[in-house]
Amino acid sequence: MPIPTEPVGSLPRPAKLQAAYAAYDAGTITFEQLSREQDKAVLDSIQRSQATGEPIISDGEQRASSFATYPLTDTLAGTGLAANLAGDGQYFAIFDDGHHRQLPRLTGGPFQYKTFAAEYLEKARKMASTPLKQAVIAPSMLMLLYPLDGNVPGYSREQFLSDLIDEAEKDIRKCFAAGAARVSIDFTEGRLALKNDPRNPWTGRNMLEQFVELNNRLLDRFSPKERKNIGIHTCPGGDCDSVHSAEVDYAQLLPSMFKMNAGYFLIQLASEKDKAHVYKLIGENIRKDANGVKQVAFIGVINPLNPRVETAQEVADDLLLASKYIPKDQLGSTDDCGFSPFSIDVKPKHGSPDVARDIAFQKIASRVEGTKIASEKLGV
Ligand SMILES: [Zn+2]
Repeated sequence: MPIPTEPVGSLPRPAKLQAAYAAYDAGTITFEQLSREQDKAVLDSIQRSQATGEPIISDGEQRASSFATYPLTDTLAGTGLAANLAGDGQYFAIFDDGHHRQLPRLTGGPFQYKTFAAEYLEKARKMASTPLKQAVIAPSMLMLLYPLDGNVPGYSREQFLSDLIDEAEKDIRKCFAAGAARVSIDFTEGRLALKNDPRNPWTGRNMLEQFVELNNRLLDRFSPKERKNIGIHTCPGGDCDSVHSAEVDYAQLLPSMFKMNAGYFLIQLASEKDKAHVYKLIGENIRKDANGVKQVAFIGVINPLNPRVETAQEVADDLLLASKYIPKDQLGSTDDCGFSPFSIDVKPKHGSPDVARDIAFQKIASRVEGTKIASEKLGV
């Protein structure tokens, strides 16, 4: 079987769609009008993804407020925030360029998703002829909705975590029921958990092991056959062409990350300085038997934060080098991150979100072509 290749999930929202989100927040257009813009952006995302020859595609997350907040709010500005939440939670991340992103705060129970990712997938399915994947958010991210210290009155941390795992399980099961070929769980907070940034208190609390344990509570609800198609995505962030935790060495993260009983991993790597170091770590830590499933490492061969388009040969060269450290039957290729995990993103290094979309599809085409070249060279 040739080397598998898969995107992470998001694409920049067209400038017109971002303007529609802003107009909806301002109350000058209706939700139906916003939905029509989302429909157009999803259709364009699907058609152009299919044109790259990619074997599995997404809807570009055009309807999602962000990779992390889609279950909780209709827009990133907080219009349509779910019950029992307030807008003023803790920072999720402070990025290298100085901007930050904030999470909502839990004010009471029960915790329930307002939107499940399958709702996006059902709409995308009608527009696509290529198999679809869906990204979902990890419970380890949403556990940060609960205050770091103390309790929400009348709603214990344990009850919250139990409700959270139930909702996350539903989120994945609904995706498969709606026809998803694969579901990947966004886990960008894993690397950030090792950063110890005094401006962002949760990153100094050694939460990685807690995150891994919580996500395994979710994964353990699925059979090995199901988990073959459930992945985990790790990255140092990717918002407004900036990152939040690239300085954290993968040597700290990967031994814990591969303890999660997922079938595959989408791993940022194209933008790493010492790729061989990371390939070696992957080879040392990836498991042949993760509670009944053989893990596959999809290495990042495309950097969505840099407008320069990688050549197919560069992609192939990365995979060939990686194959010296990672068994061929456990190797795949991906992008370092989604191309725009948050709905509001002007893609400053690209000039505009529309230019960034054009570049994204060129980059995906390179990944597909380069992965083919590497497969032929490796005889797989
Ligand atoms: Zn990412």
